Amino acid sequence: MNLTNEKISVIGAVRSGVGAAKLIKKLGGKPFVSDSGFADKFKKSMLELQKNNIEFEFGNHSNRVYDCTLIVVSPGVPSDSEVIKTAKSKGIKIISEIELASRFCAGNIIAITGTNGKTTATSLCSYLFNHCGVKTYSAGNIGNAFSEITLDVKKNEFVSLEVSSFQLDYIETFKPKVSVILNITPDHLNRYENKLENYIQSKLRIYCNQTKEDYLIINNDDLYLQKNISGHLSKTYYFSLTNNIANGCYLNSGNIYYVENRIKKFECKTTDIQLRGEHNWANAMAVISAAKIFDLDNGKIISALKTFKAVEHRLELVKEINGVKFINDSKATNVDSVIYALKSFNTPIHLILGGLDKGNNYKLIEELVKKNVKQIYAIGSSSDKIKDFFSNQINVKIYSSLQEATENAYKNAHKNEVVLLSPACASYDMFENYEDRGNQFKQIVKNI
Ligand code: ADP
Repeated sequence: MNLTNEKISVIGAVRSGVGAAKLIKKLGGKPFVSDSGFADKFKKSMLELQKNNIEFEFGNHSNRVYDCTLIVVSPGVPSDSEVIKTAKSKGIKIISEIELASRFCAGNIIAITGTNGKTTATSLCSYLFNHCGVKTYSAGNIGNAFSEITLDVKKNEFVSLEVSSFQLDYIETFKPKVSVILNITPDHLNRYENKLENYIQSKLRIYCNQTKEDYLIINNDDLYLQKNISGHLSKTYYFSLTNNIANGCYLNSGNIYYVENRIKKFECKTTDIQLRGEHNWANAMAVISAAKIFDLDNGKIISALKTFKAVEHRLELVKEINGVKFINDSKATNVDSVIYALKSFNTPIHLILGGLDKGNNYKLIEELVKKNVKQIYAIGSSSDKIKDFFSNQINVKIYSSLQEATENAYKNAHKNEVVLLSPACASYDMFENYEDRGNQFKQIVKNI
């Protein structure tokens, strides 16, 4: 693909949009970045664009957007937005940022998608491959946009790439060496005409260009995947927490095995995995499968699993004070993630719950809360709803701040118990974002 003097519009000016524009510029093209958001929200992007002599506009999409041969769309821009509809009506080709970046990548792409666990698995994958001596970049939602690093990646090097369904909506030739699908649960349906089928089909596009020299790694326990996977040419491996399988990874009596045609090629204990919880064993099995496809060293894989710490804000151990563990799971912005958090501890939990409710159904965690939680510390705009739902079953108190909730949880907690921030809610009622919420929690704990 030759971009010399090509006029290319980039819609969306956050990380992937800025990365795409810089890549286009480096390759001799003429990028124009357009974002309908107001300029004051984009100071960092603006500086970066100015520094690279890239033209841009904020506040609306002018007609200049359509004066181009190609549009690169950022994942945050819905397909039914005016700008996309207009571009389509004018017959302009639209691609996603990963499609663009992948066309200039000399190395091997390990693309990881799923509803939950993408960031964790992507980070573990690059950590583990590097630990085994294979140079691997991490890109996507966490850290760098793919476009920022794609030109640095050499043949025989790898990119561990976190891929969202929105990025997959606009691929054309994107062809990962390894595709991983961690799981599928209904999410983001507002972007898919409220049809689960559309969301699933979008995720499955991750393997649509793969050929028989490529690999596909799939969660064997996921019913949506079992029902919908078809038409793939790539060599397929599975991972499972419940069934012994012929090719891939599975769990059996506290051990994890990787097999090819049922012949054991790797074995470790779940206790070798520093990440907590069964869901993280599943994430680890997906990554182990990728590592064994390339025959990485068993001892080094195990030492990577032993040393990889949770990604920040995802069941992250902040500190242990007088035997009480403080866990930051601020990224748990939906009830589904809290299910996995509650299953990850076998000692009583003091649960800090609440924030901006997105229509949460707390029935999903009712049984687990009754079983594992000693008290709920409700915060934020959803605290009344939480109190109403749980107070017949368990002690619930409302607190006006995260600090008050955390300090009271510590007062009530005994040795070997856990204070868990896993809010099941968005953070915007009290914090800038989930990172801000997690950072404030960590600061409060450090001050105790
Ligand atoms: P994503 O990037 O897909 O949002 P993260 O790794 O950031 O995923 O994790 C988001 C939340 O989901 C965290 O609360 C985490 O503990 C939980 N989680 C991680 N892996 C899984 C999994 N395989 N299944 C279900 N939940 C998971």
